Amino acid sequence: MKELSRIAGEVRASTTLAVDSLAKQMQADGLDVIGFGTGEPDFDTPDNIKESAIKAINNGKTKYTPAAGITELRKAIASRIKLDFDIDYDFTQITVASGAKHSVYVALMALLNPGDEVILPAPYWVSYYEMIHMAGGNPLIVEAGEEQNFKITPKQLEEAIGPKTKALMLNNPSNPTGMLYTHSELKAIAEICKKCDIYVISDEIYSNLVYDNKEFVSFASLSEDACERTVLVHGVSKSYAMTGWRIGYAAANPKISKIMANFLSHSTGAPGTMNQFAAVEALSGPQDGVEAMRKVFEVRRNYIVKRINEIPKVSCIMPDGAFYVMMNIGELIGKTLGGRLIKNDDDFAVAFLEKGLVAVVPCSGFGAPGFVRWTYAASMENIREGLNRLEKFLQA
Ligand code: PMP
Repeated sequence: MKELSRIAGEVRASTTLAVDSLAKQMQADGLDVIGFGTGEPDFDTPDNIKESAIKAINNGKTKYTPAAGITELRKAIASRIKLDFDIDYDFTQITVASGAKHSVYVALMALLNPGDEVILPAPYWVSYYEMIHMAGGNPLIVEAGEEQNFKITPKQLEEAIGPKTKALMLNNPSNPTGMLYTHSELKAIAEICKKCDIYVISDEIYSNLVYDNKEFVSFASLSEDACERTVLVHGVSKSYAMTGWRIGYAAANPKISKIMANFLSHSTGAPGTMNQFAAVEALSGPQDGVEAMRKVFEVRRNYIVKRINEIPKVSCIMPDGAFYVMMNIGELIGKTLGGRLIKNDDDFAVAFLEKGLVAVVPCSGFGAPGFVRWTYAASMENIREGLNRLEKFLQA
């Protein structure tokens, strides 16, 4: 038979999900595995949000909606962005999609022509890498190691930009690093984007999860120019414990938003109608749950970082936000652990899972070999036990 799509054929399975599915398989086989793989809050969706979806179903809100989302939701998103980031968007500049991941993909489809480059700071969320390819572009990796707090410098950005560069993929705070760019760092990056005329996709899905009273700055709020060239991506998954509801959104200039809406109308259409009503409640209803969850994550972050740095041969820097921590396992490379020679972070993750019964994500797939990612979107009890197992595993 004829060759299948080359673009689709090259899409790799998600490393995050690969570890998670192996861990789930081991759990199904009766093994007591603790998972620190996928990044989703361990809280349940708040009741007021669930009830608004049930009410929507009972009121017959079960039909198609406009492809860019119901007006109520687009208006609620525009109001939330104004309240949280002080940026003015008309509701027509908002497109709702099936999760923030989908919003990033649709944004890339709206921006890229075949062969366009997108600057991707490493460590990066693995899906960006694949989605840039899927949209016909080429990721241009710019390395930001631990010694520079996993953040690219304006100089690195400027040096990387070439004639084919179309956009910068920014994730702030970042998955997997948890690091947050400061106002002045963002300002310097925005000036280069203006000078070199590149777009920015700014995925700010973790903006509500920032610790130590640090200030979160939305890229599009920096200046009129930054707002014009930015596609701001956000969603309800992380802030409201709504990962399964599949509601993400993007705010952009009218031209980009129109293209995104057209693209959505011929591909997926809008996400589930009742889910959109639930998102209206999430964004416009009481917000105290967001802060309560943030506080819990902060306590867990402090604990996990302290414990990791007390254990010999592993270390981590303090993340500012999100719910991830990158553990440096450089000193373990070349050692034998659990009967396995550890040549890289993939080997470590497999050995730790098989012998230590803990699932963490190897970061080679995130462009950060020599690290594994823990998520602290897990109960304190599991975090404590996971680190006890790490200690034991490293001593064995
Ligand atoms: N962006 C980043 C940086 C993420 O880490 C994730 C979830 N892992 C998403 C987007 C996806 O969010 P959603 O569930 O809304 O698709």
